[in-house]
Amino acid sequence: MRFLSGLDPLTPFVQRDGDTSAAAQRNMEIQMGLLIKNGEIITASDRFVADVWCENETITRIDKDLVAPAGAEVIDATGKYVFPGFIDPHTHIYLPFMGTYAVDDYETGTIAALCGGTTTVMDFCIPGRDETPKSAWATWNSKSEGKACCDYTYHMAVTHFDQAAAAELRELIAKGVSSFKIFLAYAGALGLEDDELYQTLKLAADAGVRVVAHCENACIVCNLQAELLAAGKTGPEFHEASRPAWVEADGTRHFCAMLKATGAQGYIAHLSCAEALRETVEARMNGTHVAVETLIQHLLLDSSYAERPNFEAAKYIMSPPLREKSNQKVLWNALESGLAHTIATDHAPFTTTQKRMGIDDFTKIPNGIPSLEDRVRMFYTHGVATGRIDLNHFVGLLSTHAAKLFGLYPRKGTIQVGSDADLVVYDPTYEGTISANTQHSAVDYNVFEGWPVKGRCDMVSVRGNVQVRDGEFVGKKGIGQFLRRERVY
Ligand SMILES: [Zn+2]
Repeated sequence: MRFLSGLDPLTPFVQRDGDTSAAAQRNMEIQMGLLIKNGEIITASDRFVADVWCENETITRIDKDLVAPAGAEVIDATGKYVFPGFIDPHTHIYLPFMGTYAVDDYETGTIAALCGGTTTVMDFCIPGRDETPKSAWATWNSKSEGKACCDYTYHMAVTHFDQAAAAELRELIAKGVSSFKIFLAYAGALGLEDDELYQTLKLAADAGVRVVAHCENACIVCNLQAELLAAGKTGPEFHEASRPAWVEADGTRHFCAMLKATGAQGYIAHLSCAEALRETVEARMNGTHVAVETLIQHLLLDSSYAERPNFEAAKYIMSPPLREKSNQKVLWNALESGLAHTIATDHAPFTTTQKRMGIDDFTKIPNGIPSLEDRVRMFYTHGVATGRIDLNHFVGLLSTHAAKLFGLYPRKGTIQVGSDADLVVYDPTYEGTISANTQHSAVDYNVFEGWPVKGRCDMVSVRGNVQVRDGEFVGKKGIGQFLRRERVY
């Protein structure tokens, strides 16, 4: 934490003479200054009561007893926490998948994120197997630009690799991409052959790009699916049996071996079980650099939800699947002890009607358990309020670690002078209940329906713009910016 003291009295941002551009006008409009008073500031390493002064999109001063100049907005955070804006490192907002489209767009998806305290989403730009990276890039930009209400970036999925693709990937790296996504699952659709994977990782190692991986052995999954269906086992309760924990562990081991061979640094997306975690520990002891992401769904829900009658189970279908309950304790321990590093949602919203595409065949149920709005408050309720996770580690797991792993730190992920003014004022005394009726995502259900929550995001700012008040979106649509990132290792 850096303090600046003994500076001039606070003065509002002043537009430069003669600068009449639209951007400058907009800046002037939104940058009269924002002062958050008397909150308890929590970063991944510090905890203290102070005021935070924001202008020109950034935090410019942290000190006691600051007085706002005329025209600035003052928010009283007495008795509340002030957190850095939270980062969801794994979301799917625009997503064509399994013959349909996820129902959020960049407006509803990012409003849901903001109401839950998330100010940066890391989405996935995913070319179809026959599409070029740059073509997918143009598509995703056409969906996000002018529509996103919080800041965003993409992990660039590599679904095909040859010299032409490599050249385009290098162009996209120059545009600020510093992470790839690869799929070991979804053979024939998004998955890479091993030669392609090896070459992709070589390029990543050379360019300092972190590689996010969906780790399941695709060949085994395909065969188990076919055998279950042939035996008349078509319901959603057989989804987990088609991709058991040891299949995820096998994919994880394979990916880690490829990292070791190429020198690339990796990140296991949505790790769900003890068997896969053990592979990452083994890999690290072999000198492989790999980080681990867990999902709020895997921490709180188990496979019994995906066995509910009357096709209710379809709401709980995602891959890797919800696991046997004993895995939850392992994942919580991993987060507490530093074996796992981030908590994401893999938000992929498909409605109950869309889920019915798989009524006769579980392999056709669109995968995803939406929860972008719920991640922070559910983890606070079950992690912090229970005494399991301290407040600093809470910030690390939900914001700082992702910022550091993916090249956003210290612009994002902390509260210090010079960081973007992405702030969350959190009221820990609020008690409420989760319901699809009050959520902001376009999807029509919530797997945490009726679950109690402790705490609420009273105020959420993105680069000094107050986007949420009293838990509701009140801000400006379309102000979200694409975040350019540099190489991360
Ligand atoms: Zn995903």
